[in-house]
This record gives sequence, structure tokens and C-alpha cells, in this order.
Amino acid sequence: MRKVTIFGSTGSIGENTVDLIKRSPEAYDIVALTGGRNVKRLAEQAIELNADIAVTAFDACYTELKDALSGYDIEVAAGADAVAEVADRPSDWVMSAIVGAAGLVPGLAALKQGKTLALANKESLVTAGPILMGEAHRYQATVLPVDSEHSAVFQALVGEDIDAVERVIITASGGAFRDWPTKDLHKATVEDACTHPNWDMGQRITIDSASLFNKAMELIETKEFFGVRPDQIEAIVHPQSLIHALVGFNDGALMAHIGPHDMRHAIGYALHWPNRGHVPVERLDLAKIAQLDFRPADPIRYPALRLAREVMDAGGHAGAIFNAAKEAAMDAFIARNIGFTRMADVVDATLSTLSGEIGSCEDMSLDSVLAVDHLARKTAQEIIAAG
Ligand code: NAD
Ligand code: MG
Repeated sequence: MRKVTIFGSTGSIGENTVDLIKRSPEAYDIVALTGGRNVKRLAEQAIELNADIAVTAFDACYTELKDALSGYDIEVAAGADAVAEVADRPSDWVMSAIVGAAGLVPGLAALKQGKTLALANKESLVTAGPILMGEAHRYQATVLPVDSEHSAVFQALVGEDIDAVERVIITASGGAFRDWPTKDLHKATVEDACTHPNWDMGQRITIDSASLFNKAMELIETKEFFGVRPDQIEAIVHPQSLIHALVGFNDGALMAHIGPHDMRHAIGYALHWPNRGHVPVERLDLAKIAQLDFRPADPIRYPALRLAREVMDAGGHAGAIFNAAKEAAMDAFIARNIGFTRMADVVDATLSTLSGEIGSCEDMSLDSVLAVDHLARKTAQEIIAAG
């Protein structure tokens, strides 16, 4: 039986992971599940999967979780430290599916066991890619990408030589506003931004998809995960979201990965890796799909893509500043304190204000990343407050 821990089990990726695991209960022994404020669901999952421990990230939710699990032989804990501490419990396969920079510390802690980290939390690669990949190397842990585009690239690279790769193309649906005139984008509301044309995901990544901040993060994620140069990485709008990524080789071949809009594909690939196992996703009917469309990803319409290029070129702590400013800007957008297009302005201004903090990759440590993250959130909030 494989010992499994799921960070962020109550979220969209977490639920999809639980769904796959529940289909083969004899194969998995659940060590720990962690969640946030949805304590009812966390307790249900812990009972259903017979987890050893359930942890909520929020101290205030402890009593509710304890009550929900009273009478069951399941340990209960609360708080950010408790979430990171469960990473010390032996697990063969750990899913990192917390949303935001909060996923960084638990993911890093899990690498120390030298086992497998299935990485959905893209923010950890954006904020601290060199540290995460360095720790994976140090502890000889395997990191498997769970973002659909990166899982697609990973699959296209099986058996290939990374030196033969000329380019990596990741696709973007274009998000909720892909057919809106650019001049109307400033009017977009939170409700408008939360409707994704193709994928059913958590609220924050759905808003990031509408602004293409999600794609911007995925460009950075590609650089950090695969070690390719920024000029080798492209984004293209593909409204059907069926091709998730393409890898171009030095003989001109393009290997495309095509699959349904269902994160259980990428999760299932990571769960069964290095083999392929049955995954209950829709089988595509290509004749019915008939057509695949592509459009250039316009950096004027999508300033997040331009910012991602600046971050990749700058290196060092630029990713940590970018991500923290983006998270602060999104909080302000969700609270209706700023408009949709202001989010990119806030990130841009925060990067300019903190250009002296970027440093280089060699200057990076977990402490420096957390300090820069804190500073960037504060700076972004000041920029937002100044109007
Ligand atoms: P979600 O909002 O649905 O779920 C997030 C999970 O993290 C929940 O379990 C929540 O309780 C927990 N959480 C929230 N704040 C926390 C905190 N401060 N500390 C600890 N736990 C906390 O998010 P999601 O859509 O499942 O995305 C999870 C991660 O996977 C994100 O990094 C996202 O970018 C990435 N991702 C998601 C998808 C998708 O289809 N949803 C696709 C690719 C990548
Ligand atoms: Mg993705």
C-alpha cells in the first residue's frame, strides 16, 4: 500500500485527487489530509479515507474539526505549523494542492523524505523555483508536475533529450474575457472573472485565468521546472483547451499533448507514474471536435504575460515579488477595492518599487523568499491604498 498525504485536500485539485484514490482504496494508506476553513468536508474526507490525521490551516477551526471527528480514531491538529509538520510523517506520495504561497513551506518539507511530490501548487515554483528544485535534488526526491500544461510537457519529454528541445509552447484558453473588447476589461466584475469557459477550478486560479496571470505563472513555472531559457517558452491562446502544451524539437517536430478538460488526467498521471494506470476521464471524439483554433497571446491585452517575461529575465526574488503582489492585488479585487485591470498595474508597480530587492538566484534562501514575500504584500497593499 502506498502511503499518501494530500495538502489542500478540500480544494478543487484535492477533491479530484481524493476521487481517484477512492476508486482504489486497497492501494492507498492515507497518512494526512489538510484543508482550510471547510472543516465539514475535511472531516468527511478523513472519515471516508480513514486518514491518520486531519489538519486545518486555521487555529480558529480546531474545535469544529475536533468535534466533527470525535469518536473516530483520527488525530486532529490546526495551524500553519501543524500543516507543515505533517510533511515529516512518512509518505510515499504527497500532493501539494494548497492555493497560494502558503503551499511553499509544506511542499519543501515534504521533499526531505526523498519520495514523490506531485506539485499542483505552482506558486511554490514561481516564488522559490531554484530552492524547490535544489531541495528535490539534494534529497533525491521526485517532483511531478500536476499543472495540466506542465504534465503535458513532461509527458512529451519522456524518452527525449532536453538538449534537443528548441521550444516549449503552453496553451491558454484565454479565460473568461477572451472575447471581450480590451477597452471593456476594466468593467469586469468578480462574478464575470469567476466563470471559466472550459475548466472547473478554485476561485483564485479562475480569476488568474481571466487575467492570464495564471498563464504568466505557468511561463515562469516552465522555466523553473524544465530549466529551459525564457526565450524558448511561448504561450498561445487555444480556445478549446484540448492541446495542453507542445514541445518543439531541433528536427522541427512538435509533440502535442491532447486531452479532456479534467485535472484527473494530470493528477492520475502523477499518481501512476512511472506507469500509466486507468483514469476515468472522458475519451475525446476528434471527429466531433472537428477543429482546433489558435490565436496569438497579445501582451498588450494581457500585461501579465509581459510581466512574466520581466520576472524570468530578472530571476532572483522577482518571482516572489510578482506572486505576492499578485495575491495581494487579487485579494483587493475580490474585496472590490480595485478593478480587474488594476491588478496588473499593482504587480507592475510593486516590481518597480522593489527592484532593489530582486538580487540573484545565489542570494535566495527560504528565509529571504518569505521576507521578500512579506515585503511585497505590504508594498502592494500600500500601492492599492494610495489609489
Ligand atoms: P482551491 O482554492 O480549490 O483549494 C485550495 C486548498 O488549499 C483548499 O484545500 C484550502 O482549504 C487550502 N488552503 C487555502 N488557503 C490555505 C492556507 N493559507 N494554508 C493552508 N491551506 C490553505 O484551489 P485549487 O484550484 O485546487 O488550486 C490548488 C493549487 O493547484 C493552486 O496552486 C493552483 O494554482 C493549482 N492548480 C489548480 C488547478 C485546478 O484545476 N484547480 C489546475 C492547475 C493548477
Ligand atoms: Mg494550468
